Amino acid sequence: MILVVGGAGYIGSHMVKLLLAQGREVCTLDNLSTGFRDAVLGGEFHQIDLADAPAVDALMASRRFDAVMHFASSIVVGESVKDPAKYYRNNVANTLNLLEAMVRHKVGRFIFSSTAAIFGEPQRVPIDEDHPKQPVNPYGASKWMIERVLADFGHAYGLKSVCLRYFNACGADPEGRIGERHDPETHLIPLLLQVASGRRPNISVFGRDYPTPDGTCIRDYIHIEDLCTAHLLAVDHLVAGGDSRAFNLGNGTGFSVQEVLETVRRVTGHPIPVVDSPRREGDPARLVADSTRVRQQFGWTPRYADLDLIVRHAWAWEQKCAGMPAHR
Ligand code: UDP
Repeated sequence: MILVVGGAGYIGSHMVKLLLAQGREVCTLDNLSTGFRDAVLGGEFHQIDLADAPAVDALMASRRFDAVMHFASSIVVGESVKDPAKYYRNNVANTLNLLEAMVRHKVGRFIFSSTAAIFGEPQRVPIDEDHPKQPVNPYGASKWMIERVLADFGHAYGLKSVCLRYFNACGADPEGRIGERHDPETHLIPLLLQVASGRRPNISVFGRDYPTPDGTCIRDYIHIEDLCTAHLLAVDHLVAGGDSRAFNLGNGTGFSVQEVLETVRRVTGHPIPVVDSPRREGDPARLVADSTRVRQQFGWTPRYADLDLIVRHAWAWEQKCAGMPAHR
């Protein structure tokens, strides 16, 4: 049985769906602070907060988990600058509760949602795994701290881990059952689609004076399904007795904000009014992954490495989601 922590959130719910499709036994732990119960398409569900260490310990004692996948964290960079305590508590202290319960109950395999934000301002692009780690905000710092904790837990307690550093996760379940549902939404593609569906009047483009060909920021957009496939390979690697690893996960192709905007206009047929706005604090000009290592070591190949397809799946979800109540 696999424990998916944060399985009611955007990435976690797609992971649960994929595990179930593979016929695996799944147990979801989520406090439903930002996730949705109805996004968990099957398996066991436990509404537990990672801050509640005794409850986490009791769950760990009650089942035999082959591995734990950890998606539960706070993820908004700007908020992390304004309220770092929330990020160190949720992403570091609460994760320690989980890891210590695992050690106590001899659950020895951990898959961790890490982020490109651990690298900080890129010194070279594309970014490979060995790029220096100098996070420039508390969000990135909190994720890098846990990567460091995992190295030490591996050494001291034999806990094996795979850290997956996501670039820009996007898209939705190709069959349209689940998708991105952040509240408030801060990510580019869902915001553009909310304009297309009439939920917002326009999109702000944060800066047109970056040193890129069209002046807008370049990002590496990776389909949620491809991201989750890498997690499956990671679990299988650890279950087969593999050692701890860390990988950068992206498609290796960058698209500018302007290119994403034009793709959304094309796919939705909506004009998408734009408001040119100042740069958003802490946005590097270009973030693109070098994912050679995960391709070579795990044989990972993205199936949906096509921005039009990513936007089509996300658009199908937005059209369904626009009429959904914002209940939890
Ligand atoms: N962005 C934008 N307008 C928005 C939201 C995002 O211009 O309303 C830009 C943002 O500055 C960045 C890119 O879109 O260059 C992707 O941002 P997102 O928040 O989706 O992901 P991030 O790269 O911050 O993880």
